Amino acid sequence: MNKNKKINEEVDTDIFGSPQMREPAPVEFIPRHKTPAEIAYEMVKDETFPQTQPRLNLATFVTTYMDEYGTRLMNEAVGINFIDETEYPRVAVMCGRCINMVANMWNSPEKGAWKTGAVGIGSSEACMLGGVAAWLRWRDRRKAEGKTYDKPNLVMSTAYQVVWEKFCQLWQIEMRTIPITKEHPSLDIDRAISACDENTICVVPIAGVTWTGMNDDIEALDKALEEYHAKTGIDIPIHVDAASGGFILPFLNPGKKWDFRLKRVLSISTSGHKYGLVYPGLGWVIWRDKSYLPKEMSFSVNYLGANITQVGLNFSRPAAQILAQYYNFIHLGFEGYKEIHSNSMDIAEYCHKAIGKMKCFRNYSRTLENPLFIWYMEPEYEKKANWTLFDLQDKLMERGWMVPAYTMPKDIEDMVVMRIVVRQGMSLDMADMLIADIRNAVEELEKLEYPTPTCLAARKQEKQKGHVYTH
Ligand SMILES: *Cc1c(COP(=O)(O)O)cnc(C)c1O
Repeated sequence: MNKNKKINEEVDTDIFGSPQMREPAPVEFIPRHKTPAEIAYEMVKDETFPQTQPRLNLATFVTTYMDEYGTRLMNEAVGINFIDETEYPRVAVMCGRCINMVANMWNSPEKGAWKTGAVGIGSSEACMLGGVAAWLRWRDRRKAEGKTYDKPNLVMSTAYQVVWEKFCQLWQIEMRTIPITKEHPSLDIDRAISACDENTICVVPIAGVTWTGMNDDIEALDKALEEYHAKTGIDIPIHVDAASGGFILPFLNPGKKWDFRLKRVLSISTSGHKYGLVYPGLGWVIWRDKSYLPKEMSFSVNYLGANITQVGLNFSRPAAQILAQYYNFIHLGFEGYKEIHSNSMDIAEYCHKAIGKMKCFRNYSRTLENPLFIWYMEPEYEKKANWTLFDLQDKLMERGWMVPAYTMPKDIEDMVVMRIVVRQGMSLDMADMLIADIRNAVEELEKLEYPTPTCLAARKQEKQKGHVYTH
């Protein structure tokens, strides 16, 4: 009888009939007893069930769609640790090939079979590596010249991504930021140059500014730094943060000079998991040639039976993303990337136009440089509206869309904007659904007789600053 009961328990995997489904999920301690795999699986799976569908998440730059074969390759490689080069030597070779292709895509002048670069878990690690290299090169030069090297600084616009704040804080580098303003929606080159001095390790322009979707004018910066060098003798390099632009410009605007074609660009970083079209996390950093990668950054490790040279902040990391990047390069080719990104651009422009036509909104920029854009509330309309873009964000969330509203960086922090990032996985049909949902949401919000809490808060803030609303 006991034996029968046991058998029954094993066959009876009625997940929602199990006692576990009546218990709260573990929060603080590892549960003492076991839970059958099917039930544990369901519990974990269901935890994420009510979240937005990743492809409706228009807030992120990161890949939310890959084709079946790319996905299959990644799943099959899920047990492979990238760092085990001795065991999986072909992964290291594939990584080197990806570095070559990314470097050549950015017009690397480096000769030789293998270009100088590194893989990272994302742009953040890639930016850190580019930043550290710039700092060490500067320090070594100052040392050689017998000068002080205790006050390094870095110059970029206030529209930086948070990784640069982390970099400056962790390595104790002074961050000199140049405000983006309504007149200067991207890096103000003149002000950037005036912020430079002999302690500037590099200037960091951005291709694909997270906040606005625009590009800093890197060619103009290169020229200005050249003139600055001629005038002062101070030689300041550029690291380009091309987290999203690095995989857009080569395909959609190949004539534009922003990469190693510019003399002072010594390193560039990008996210393979943004417009490189790989699931997270993957980043790349490339140096102009190996002389710009300080020796202190290459670690020779004797690991599991071989001597390997490693550049990176991480050690163990999944290999799957590298396989997927290599797969994308083979499968899509230059033409494939160009087609996908052109479609994203067309769909972004379509949405931009539709938003621009609505009387309550105004686009931040007239044209798009990347497949994303921001808009704000038309100022006259805003004075009378009983709602804000934060309310619209909530309304759209009800329909499954994640379209973020946020305030701009300091100096224009009273500006609230909304952003759409178009990526692979968004069709014109989906864009039509989104636009219809935005129109319907606005229509509902316009029926409000009383201001929403976010609207009241905004008015209170305005009043404190001395502007009084007309009603
Ligand atoms: C996304 C982004 C980063 C950070 O990249 P991750 O890949 O998320 O680590 C850095 N800079 C810019 C401009 C970005 O858009």
